[in-house]
Amino acid sequence: MSLLTVESLTKEFGDVTAVRDVSFNVSDGEFVSILGPSGSGKSTILRMIAGFETPTNGSIRLNTTELVGVPPFERDINMVFQNLALFPHLTVAENIGYGLKQAGVKKSERAERTKKMLQMVHLDGYGSRSPDELSGGEQQRVALARALVNEPELVLFDEPLSSLDRKLRQHMQTELQRIQSETGTTFLYVTHDQEVALSVSDRLVVLNEGEIEQIGSAEDLYETPESTFVADFIGDVN
Ligand code: ADP
Ligand code: MG
Repeated sequence: MSLLTVESLTKEFGDVTAVRDVSFNVSDGEFVSILGPSGSGKSTILRMIAGFETPTNGSIRLNTTELVGVPPFERDINMVFQNLALFPHLTVAENIGYGLKQAGVKKSERAERTKKMLQMVHLDGYGSRSPDELSGGEQQRVALARALVNEPELVLFDEPLSSLDRKLRQHMQTELQRIQSETGTTFLYVTHDQEVALSVSDRLVVLNEGEIEQIGSAEDLYETPESTFVADFIGDVN
């Protein structure tokens, strides 16, 4: 069943069309990546799904609910940003539990769910530290725990690993896959990094200048690229 359905999505900024007539869907429990070069409209698509931008045209449904017009905090969706956006003045545990606190979840349950999340991302015992006492990879795990703690239907990722060095990026890739399968959460992951996208995704949406070039598994894209753009971009793994 389709969890997320994006239909004929278009976003114009003045006379720039950032996203043009984009349609795709994501099944429940699926790991889908949107892959494309810088400026191809990836972040704009995610921001519309999260509710931070309003589409010029088109529809975004979560299950059968139309999301266009619904405020971000009322969507059952969380987002992990490239800069992570951890609160520097809060501890790791407070960062993870922040949304639960806002939602009025009581303290004992917050503590329990935060602890479970710290275990999930292998940060047991880090709860009382400050984010600036953590490495880049550890901060990444905190951001991930924060996005998963309230068990959203869908988690959006905007290039979350791009600031990490190659070795750590590969490790975190594997970690993302593990955490996705352990939690059964649906992931929509945006990146310009072919290597990451091809190795972690069930399916990929290849984007170029705001339009979809092809949707398929890594194998589909390798074996039957539908355009020279896809062949070149997928072939460009280094
Ligand atoms: P990507 O994430 O793939 O790098 P973006 O979605 O950030 O691409 O941007 C797609 C296009 O839309 C770019 O040409 C960018 O300059 C433009 N754009 C994005 N956000 C805005 C905005 N708030 N105002 C004007 N133009 C924007
Ligand atoms: Mg972007």
